[in-house]
Amino acid sequence: MGPVIRRLDDQLVNRIAAGEVVERPASVVKELVENALDAGARRIRVELEEGGKTRIRVLDDGMGVPADQLPLVFERHATSKIHRPEDLDAITSLGFRGEALPSIGAVARVRFRSRPRGTAEGAVITWEGGRFQALAPAGGPEGTEVEVRDLFFNTPARLRFLKTTATERRRAVAVVTEMALAYPEVAFELWVEGRESLRTSGDGDPREAVAAVFGRERARRLIELEADGAGITLSGFLGPPDMARRDRSGQHLFINRRWVHSSPLGAAVERGYEGLLMTRQYPVFILHVGLDPAEVDVNVHPAKTEVRLRRERELFGLVVRAVRERLAGANLGRRLVRVEWEGEAGARQGLDGGRPDRASLYETGRLFPGEVRDVAPAVGATEGWRRAAPGPEVAAAAGVDEVALPATLAVPEPGGEREAGAAGAGKELPPDETQAFRRLLRTCRVLGQLGRTYLVAEADDGLWLIDQHAAHERILFDRLRRAGSEPPVQQPLLVPIPLELGPERFELFWESREELAQLGFGLEPFGRHSLRVTALPVHLAGLADGGRLEAAVDELLELWQREGRRQPDRVLALLACKAAVKAGDALTQEQMDRLLQDLAATDVPFTCPHGRPTALSHPWSDLERRFGRRG
Ligand code: ADP
Ligand code: MG
Repeated sequence: MGPVIRRLDDQLVNRIAAGEVVERPASVVKELVENALDAGARRIRVELEEGGKTRIRVLDDGMGVPADQLPLVFERHATSKIHRPEDLDAITSLGFRGEALPSIGAVARVRFRSRPRGTAEGAVITWEGGRFQALAPAGGPEGTEVEVRDLFFNTPARLRFLKTTATERRRAVAVVTEMALAYPEVAFELWVEGRESLRTSGDGDPREAVAAVFGRERARRLIELEADGAGITLSGFLGPPDMARRDRSGQHLFINRRWVHSSPLGAAVERGYEGLLMTRQYPVFILHVGLDPAEVDVNVHPAKTEVRLRRERELFGLVVRAVRERLAGANLGRRLVRVEWEGEAGARQGLDGGRPDRASLYETGRLFPGEVRDVAPAVGATEGWRRAAPGPEVAAAAGVDEVALPATLAVPEPGGEREAGAAGAGKELPPDETQAFRRLLRTCRVLGQLGRTYLVAEADDGLWLIDQHAAHERILFDRLRRAGSEPPVQQPLLVPIPLELGPERFELFWESREELAQLGFGLEPFGRHSLRVTALPVHLAGLADGGRLEAAVDELLELWQREGRRQPDRVLALLACKAAVKAGDALTQEQMDRLLQDLAATDVPFTCPHGRPTALSHPWSDLERRFGRRG
């Protein structure tokens, strides 16, 4: 007998379609908000419970659906937005496939209440797991209210596929944030687990919407972009280079007001920043591209987050040029160029700040603030040098590339081999070697600083170079780790440091507030999605210096985003790195002596928390041999 071919029933078809359209709570939020926007809403309120897993509610003041048409809402391929084949060639609405609500209705419990504008009464229809439940008259305000409960209650496999509530919540928050940026004329309100997370004024001013999302202070620093050519308009905002992040979380791209995830146009903006950013830094931007709908094919993916562009190459060039020109004209000089020179007495000065008080610096952890200089000197004859902690990577670690890494690059990298080992663990040498190294650190004589990066010391067995950043990192890391078991010691900040995070990053940060408080951070929520840092862990007081805290937070968020939050040692290593003295910081004799004493007191003095060596030696015997004094 041959196979039996049968037409699938609607319920099954919808459930299959739901697999594409409804991937997670965020996709439901996206579809519902898009429907509200298509209905001409001026106010949209979104509520999430358990990150949207148990309940999503979207309320709008749009045109509504008449009672007699309500059943059609859950009909597959029933839509009010397109009628003729030609309509597909120039889509002006966000939705058009008539699939969203049938799909959502197939995998959740949905209540859809609507009252058309100007009518006295509305109606409510309910669907559960792909089945019609009830249709009844209902009161309520004009507009539409959709409530989606228990997403995937009837598809356990999909339910299991969902990420943690925190992750799902962030994604849903991100969707609303993007919509709010794309539609400044609509007043958005977002409530997350009963907390107000975002509110935009809806006054139509893009700058207002941006301020609501980015915080007023950051928004003020954005550079406005307006350009057009060849029937294309570009508008939006460019973050100054120093606002760049370590990931693309600050990038918002819209094509005809549709949020698109991945597009060559994002790369075009990045190209426009070329030469202004360090590697692995990503600019922050909000870019709206407007073009003739006939030039955009949005019918590529059911969730419509990808689009195809007809004149992509031309558009790419236009974006690169516009961004480049705008940045060139934005007078970024002061922010970009940090001039450094030696003042009298060798104090380091820069455009970005005054002179730190050298005497008290080391004790408080406030070693010289400022930027990393990429110009750490190369180590000459590397072959004669050996690491304090011998290991298979000796040759690589002693090579110029490794040793001369700017300090900011010494933090964990995605998939980096070098950081694969747990911070500080497994590097222990036999106790007698550790003891010998400690003794050496305590008794050696610091001759000075080499390239403001290495301490040069004389010991009984010869010459030693100590990497000041690696050493200080190790010291801070150990102190943080030891402090972990005790009540945190805080250093209150006279002037709290504001952190404007934006809704999505706020959620990520807020999830870790207890761990951070445990370390000694004093954190207060400040507004809807900003924080104030009122105190720092005493060992991390160095973070208070110009921009270091923000940089640390950026990297922390990136780490959490990438790898989740169960990496306590990685977090400590990152914080230690950010608070530590950098290559390029001048040190006094007293500070250098202290550094070695403190390093001697650590558990694993040979390596920094990322596994780089803290010290290299050149024994007398080598010197003698190489100078021809001995065989
Ligand atoms: P699509 O948006 O692709 O048309 P949906 O399944 O999302 O398909 O919605 C089906 C129809 O239900 C829409 O075409 C629209 O007429 C109506 N509808 C859905 N949500 C709303 C809303 N919030 N306000 C008014 N009408 C709505
Ligand atoms: Mg829709």
